[in-house]
Amino acid sequence: MEENTRRICKRCLLRDLAEEDQKDLSKYLAAIKEPDRAPEKQYEERLLVCRECDLLTEATCLACGCYVEIRAYAKAARCPKKKW
Ligand code: SF4
Repeated sequence: MEENTRRICKRCLLRDLAEEDQKDLSKYLAAIKEPDRAPEKQYEERLLVCRECDLLTEATCLACGCYVEIRAYAKAARCPKKKW
């Protein structure tokens, strides 16, 4: 019997995972139109906050259920806990 050795990466973003586990991240990011995207600096700052947040689990925000990389990419998006 094969033992399940999959580990949960609490602070991981999708970009940290193997390509086959990235859930079409680039496709979802590309679907957000250029004018609606957060500037690169703001995007990375948002993700740094998420990495420090206890609600981040396996790239997902437990407060809203979103992949944080996709949520943070939209300029108008807000953190559900008002952290960014
Ligand atoms: S609550 Fe905010 S800071 Fe925490 S993971 Fe969700 S979006 Fe990121």
